[in-house]
Amino acid sequence: MTRPLREARVDLDAVAHNIHALRGYIGDAKLMIVVKSRAYGHGAVPIARAAVAAGADWLGVVDIPEALELRAAGISAPILAWLHGAEADFDLAIAAEIDLGIHYREQLDRVAAAPGVASVQLKVDTGLGRNGAAESDWPALFASAVEHERAGRVRVRGLWSHLANAGPEHDLAQVAAYERAITEARAAGLDPELLHLASTAGALRVPSARFALVRIGIGSYGLSPFDDVTSADLGLRPALELSAGIVSVKRATAGSGVSYGYDYRTGAETTLALVPLGYGDGIPRQASGRGPVSINGQRYRVAGRVAMDQFVVDVGDDDVAVGDRAILFGDPSAGAPSADDWARAADTINYEIVTRLGGRIEWTYAARD
Ligand SMILES: *Cc1c(COP(=O)(O)O)cnc(C)c1O
Repeated sequence: MTRPLREARVDLDAVAHNIHALRGYIGDAKLMIVVKSRAYGHGAVPIARAAVAAGADWLGVVDIPEALELRAAGISAPILAWLHGAEADFDLAIAAEIDLGIHYREQLDRVAAAPGVASVQLKVDTGLGRNGAAESDWPALFASAVEHERAGRVRVRGLWSHLANAGPEHDLAQVAAYERAITEARAAGLDPELLHLASTAGALRVPSARFALVRIGIGSYGLSPFDDVTSADLGLRPALELSAGIVSVKRATAGSGVSYGYDYRTGAETTLALVPLGYGDGIPRQASGRGPVSINGQRYRVAGRVAMDQFVVDVGDDDVAVGDRAILFGDPSAGAPSADDWARAADTINYEIVTRLGGRIEWTYAARD
């Protein structure tokens, strides 16, 4: 089979490996694998299937359309969707047995008024400052949830929150606030079985934040949520390799300007190789002059600016031909640059490097067995 010119190759065995490795960290907690935003750029349906096959208990997505896409693909595992606009179609979600993250009373009332018995998971803000009920609103939200539950309009299956990952002291303050929410909810007459607070970072570093379930996104893709710890340190394998076939190779004289603005000039006579990936495909322009690329096992950097469709690599006198693969990132233990290298080059985080991929890239899926 010929390889796509621009390929995001996803190793589903790596995803299964990561899920097993993460289980080893989390004790008895249940595991929700977060597949929002096209599974962080890895492909929602294939990743969700691989995650369920590897033993994920739950799947997490942001909104109802993402959850419905998984149901349409025949995935029947429990799914939680947690961000809803004013016009969100709760009827469809309830009919498809999607659990709904609920943030405020009017939202709960809308869900309760929809046909069927909604399974809801109440979200409390314990200090992240995004969505979820503020502490002063907990009594009213809980009282209203008890009323709807007793009337058979909803089932309160979970109570949850999200950490700001702002350091150990703040994490523990959030754990304490979350425990207050659990106590208040029980005192109000709720009995949520699914208590969850931690994403990958908290699941790995804050044992007291694990509760009944952890929501793991980045770790299942084999990437580290920490600045100071690599995938390999955590025993994880990056699942996505981004590469493209070189489309043009030519010699250039010393002092030649390369790409828009001539930010780069060749030092000596050299060979310039052209890679058909640009910011239209999600390659950060910010990484101009810095992003690493591996060609035939040699490491280079982007020469000059990343354009919409392409960038140039100065390969010196190395033997590079049209059709050779340029690997932007993959598994560093196999010699590729890492998504973390690109994150540093673009002044961002590995999450953004993988999630932003799109444009003309083709996704392929490999599993060794
Ligand atoms: C994205 C997200 C996660 C997963 O976070 P990771 O750091 O990728 O593990 C968990 N919970 C919520 C609410 C999220 O939005």
